[in-house]
Amino acid sequence: MTLPPDYRGFDGLSEDLERRRGQHLYRHRRLLQSPQQPHLRCDDRELLAFCSNDYLGLANHHEVIAAFQQAASRYGVGGGASHLVIGHSEPHHALEDALAEFTGRERVLLFSSGYMANMGVITALLGKKDAVFEDRLNHASLLDGGLLSRARFQRYLHNDSASLSARLASSDARRKLVVTDGVFSMDGDVALLPELAATCADHNAWLMVDDAHGFGVLGDSGGGCAEHFEMSAEQLPVLVGTLGKGFGTAGAFVAGSEVLIETLIQQARSYIYTTSMPPAVAAATLVSLRLLQQEGWRREHLAKMVQRFRLEAATLGLELMASETPIQPIVIGDASRALALSAHLETLGVLVTAIRPPTVPEGSARLRVTLSAAHTEQDIDRLLEAFVIAAKKTGVR
Ligand SMILES: *Cc1c(COP(=O)(O)O)cnc(C)c1O
Repeated sequence: MTLPPDYRGFDGLSEDLERRRGQHLYRHRRLLQSPQQPHLRCDDRELLAFCSNDYLGLANHHEVIAAFQQAASRYGVGGGASHLVIGHSEPHHALEDALAEFTGRERVLLFSSGYMANMGVITALLGKKDAVFEDRLNHASLLDGGLLSRARFQRYLHNDSASLSARLASSDARRKLVVTDGVFSMDGDVALLPELAATCADHNAWLMVDDAHGFGVLGDSGGGCAEHFEMSAEQLPVLVGTLGKGFGTAGAFVAGSEVLIETLIQQARSYIYTTSMPPAVAAATLVSLRLLQQEGWRREHLAKMVQRFRLEAATLGLELMASETPIQPIVIGDASRALALSAHLETLGVLVTAIRPPTVPEGSARLRVTLSAAHTEQDIDRLLEAFVIAAKKTGVR
């Protein structure tokens, strides 16, 4: 029997999958059987997890859940249409207003995810005559948005405003957009925003910051990098936040001037051509925003957990990165070793995911430990005890 030509294409796909497996780069999904929380159930086991981005422990908060339930009773489940047709409801609007006040920006626009927000903003602002400058460690969604925009795409050295400045100086593009993570998602370090903003001002460029991991964590009231560095709307005109991390819900927002937001409403395709997020998610986020702002003890406890982890890890001689945030990677280097270590930790009841290329650069596979305000001191101690045992057993260190 001769196979139809299409099948040959699929033969190629299975070879690619096998190659990936051989390189220890194959990914698989776990099955979560409990809410997102440090002590969780997954794949039929009880585990102590250090891998979520629910930094403040709000994803499973009873008040957030109650707000979600009440709004679902009142507004139903589905958004039903895009924002520009008939999908923009009261909870969406109220959340936009509250986030504008929170960030001190004129207006806010909600998106269904951070990935979509970044794609939407960059493609709405830039075209062929323009240029985008991105930190080389930026999140994939920022890189993808830059590529899709068809603007001239350049990367600068990580957190290096001299490298950025040299690239800006040699550009004669119509518009120049500089794009950076606020807190770098795989390294945990913070972008040097005041320097980057000054460089942008020197070269008449706009600064866009994606602070997915800063909101809720940095700043006295959880306002993220912008609050931490006291960045004005002039210095930082395009501010993106996501709601699925510190806020514990889902979706994303862009904060900025009236002109920016109106431009996005008219031009951002990932805003226009998609159904609005469920209104109940917006209603739940209004409550998580209040908790995030008012319950400063969550940030204080989280900072304590970060300090404890770093101190104990240093005593054990572990190699940590220069991060003061809840993202505390332990760099292993080799992807197969990182996997072996993660697998052994799991046999000890501790879940830490191994992050491998292409998510991080070749040769820098790591265990990405993330800490949460829901972790206790005992949890941190247990992680490090397990790490010592697993490292010995797998001969990693
Ligand atoms: C998680 C993340 C995103 C994507 O946000 P989602 O709402 O999960 O799509 C964007 N940028 C950064 C830096 C992130 O860490």
